Amino acid sequence: MNDAADLKILPKKRYGQNFLQDDNIINNIIGLSGGLKDKNVLEIGGGTGNLTRRIINEKPKKLVVVEVDNDLIPTLKKLEYANQQNVRIIWGDILEFNIMQHFLQPPIIIGNLPYNISTKILTNLLSSSPQAWNQLILMFQMEVAERIIAKPNSKKFGRLSVLAQYCSMPSIKIKISNKVFFPTPKVKSAVVVFNKKQNYTNKINSDLFFLIVKKCFSQRRKKIINSLKTFYPNMSSILEECDIDPDSRAENLSVEDYYKLAEIIQRKKEKLEINLR
Ligand code: SAH
Repeated sequence: MNDAADLKILPKKRYGQNFLQDDNIINNIIGLSGGLKDKNVLEIGGGTGNLTRRIINEKPKKLVVVEVDNDLIPTLKKLEYANQQNVRIIWGDILEFNIMQHFLQPPIIIGNLPYNISTKILTNLLSSSPQAWNQLILMFQMEVAERIIAKPNSKKFGRLSVLAQYCSMPSIKIKISNKVFFPTPKVKSAVVVFNKKQNYTNKINSDLFFLIVKKCFSQRRKKIINSLKTFYPNMSSILEECDIDPDSRAENLSVEDYYKLAEIIQRKKEKLEINLR
């Protein structure tokens, strides 16, 4: 364990730095992968290397670590020097990072995410097309984790739930007390594992799907028939075709409903293109 205090590192709030200080929790997180031996792995936000070291012990085929804070790079680089062939430490911003430039196969992505941008990171990963990940093992603040796994007809069900559940089966695997971090955050955390849906075949245009979901939830109190009106003129006929109640609001639709909606709108694409311009 590398203590941030021992390393004389002052955690930076602007980078959402809350370092994990508990070996058991680290072991449990890595255990969720079912083994990383000979796997491609990307770690988001290496920090002081606490998770990184544990990942290296598993002997992955290749590990790439992206860390934005230059002050943390020297400590992480030592791990690269010690494991020349298969560990790469990259100083960079994950939001600008092209994952598939570094892997031949989509990697398992692991990270104790910086909370200030965790939903942005997740949205990017979920909406990348083709998807640049094989499995996601990510730590979020509890409130975000609950939104990710939320079911329809609840306040927590939103854009993040639909994006996550459309292509994967997210589930909260470990709930984590705030006491195991340094500095101690105000809220609890949870590790969410995203495994791809077995039967996931994407026949619809992801951009279109994401646009529809965004439109509906950006005005979640409105009926979707109104939210989507400017987007497609004859929404009532489309809703009927999808067997969706015309009085529905964004949170009443299931993930399958959104999929059906996108599929039918896509079929009417010529008309739609005029509206999208
Ligand atoms: N994995 C470590 C650190 C987690 S804290 C541990 O569990 O102890 C989150 C880490 O993400 C910090 O090291 C922070 O500097 C890094 N980070 C924040 N924003 C980032 C970004 N945009 N791209 C890459 N890393 C980022």
